[in-house]
Amino acid sequence: KYSTDVAIENPVDPPVEVKHTQLLINGQFVDAASGKSFPTLDPRTGDVIAHVAEGDAEDINRAVAAARKAFDEGPWPKMTAYERQRILLRFADLIEKHNDELAALETWDNGKPYEQSAKLEVPMLTRLMRYYAGWADKIHGLTVPADGPYHVQTLHEPIGVAGQVIPWNFPLLMFGWKVGPALACGNTIVLKTAEQTPLSAIFAANLLHEAGLPPGVLNVISGFGPAAGAALASHMDVDKFAFTGSTKTGQFVHELASRSNLKPVTSELGGKSPFIVCEDADIDKAVELAHYALFFNQGQCCCAGSRTFVHERVYDEFVEKSKALALKRAVGDPFLEGIEQGPQKEKHCSLKITQVSNAQFEKILKYIKSGVESGATLEAGGERLGNKGYYIKPTVFSNVKVFLLVIITSCIFPQRLRYGYNAKDEIFGPVQSIFKYKDLDEVIRRANATHYGLAAGVFTENLDTANTLTRALRAGSVWVNCFNIFDATIPMGGYKMSGHGREKGIYSLENYLQVKAVVTPLKNPAW
Ligand code: NAD
Repeated sequence: KYSTDVAIENPVDPPVEVKHTQLLINGQFVDAASGKSFPTLDPRTGDVIAHVAEGDAEDINRAVAAARKAFDEGPWPKMTAYERQRILLRFADLIEKHNDELAALETWDNGKPYEQSAKLEVPMLTRLMRYYAGWADKIHGLTVPADGPYHVQTLHEPIGVAGQVIPWNFPLLMFGWKVGPALACGNTIVLKTAEQTPLSAIFAANLLHEAGLPPGVLNVISGFGPAAGAALASHMDVDKFAFTGSTKTGQFVHELASRSNLKPVTSELGGKSPFIVCEDADIDKAVELAHYALFFNQGQCCCAGSRTFVHERVYDEFVEKSKALALKRAVGDPFLEGIEQGPQKEKHCSLKITQVSNAQFEKILKYIKSGVESGATLEAGGERLGNKGYYIKPTVFSNVKVFLLVIITSCIFPQRLRYGYNAKDEIFGPVQSIFKYKDLDEVIRRANATHYGLAAGVFTENLDTANTLTRALRAGSVWVNCFNIFDATIPMGGYKMSGHGREKGIYSLENYLQVKAVVTPLKNPAW
């Protein structure tokens, strides 16, 4: 049912070498000013893959100075849009050419199945870059019919130096979501990678320079959040800040940005997305989709369908089938063919844990333990797999109805609230919780009873039910009879504490543009 322990005990050699481990500032690979480096770890073993430069505030200053110069003096914002487009298209071609190398780096650093990296995520990055290349020469303002004798037009200008911070769960895609629209609009960038997964973004940034990007337009800093990320969010010479990560860090960087120079912030934060299965649904399809909605990417998705609500008439059948599917899931060395789930990316780095991060693997196991203690029924999994690396068996809980217990527990042991299995916290691991509901009003109320609002899934054959749910659910994406559709053209973002603004699609361009109103008097208003 799982890949053999032998495969976990003896991981295969990754088919790639690590070529780039330095910071990329002003088109040059350089060491950190402090000379420090930190290890990035293989989640299959906990072994060191490579030591990468540890950027801090001084490196952020150097990188922002380079981005500022590249913005103020050009050539990037002053190039024709067509020239910028051609560089982005060449970049897309280079990603395609290096598809397998990028995929292997991504899998090695992150632990996700190689087939997922090579056949889905790197091709999605290629597609995304072509999409944004297409926008470069289609960004323009309006002519405005103002009252009075004036000619009024709006110019859509790049906003300036963009600071960007990305997480570890989709390092390459998050790189693309941030860099694509910012470059298409003519901005310059300082991007900080996640300390857990620095390798693939630096490789991709080097390809972008090979494609002809001028020096200083994209600067990439590896390093930790409190030292490098916070310096970027609070930098006085950064004109816009974009962040993807946890809600807690998001609140912190919004504050830093506002206290420094009031730079605008877009943020993509956490989620606890409902997946609603109606009584008329095709159960086999719904089971498969709910499984995919939760277990994709080891359950480490911001929009994972982590609260599966199933109508009481089909509940028992749904639970039985979900359990069978979880037990069948192929877990093992992500470089092996046919593997569906690799190890969790352990957040703990041997040197330090960032101020808001917890060791991810331990955190998931604690949540599972607390779920069992709270009386939910453990249908499958519930423990680590093997003794090496950070593998967790796909876990399914049914009869999750523990809100009362959590309230009592948290009153007696307030410190346990942090990890209490209240089915409201984002677990960020392979743990499916299946709830029973009676009617639509009830499930709408329960689905919306969260501080998050990133995504939701609806499974029904009835158009009226689908329309009711899609309108009632407070989430930035509602997928009907499908889930996790991340097409480049579709906007993505959160309601409530899941963040501000939208990424991807046409909406993402607004994040990187200033609108200038230009008013000139008309000499002869009659014409
Ligand atoms: P995190 O907030 O710990 O880290 C994310 C990034 O923020 C990292 O680069 C980190 O170095 C940086 N950071 C940490 N502390 C910082 C600080 N004090 N100042 C500035 N930067 C700091 O989040 P994580 O746990 O690594 O990432 C997973 C989270 O990201 C999950 O909650 C997930 O839902 C969310 N996420 C959201 C989306 C989305 O599109 N909404 C996508 C992927 C991940």
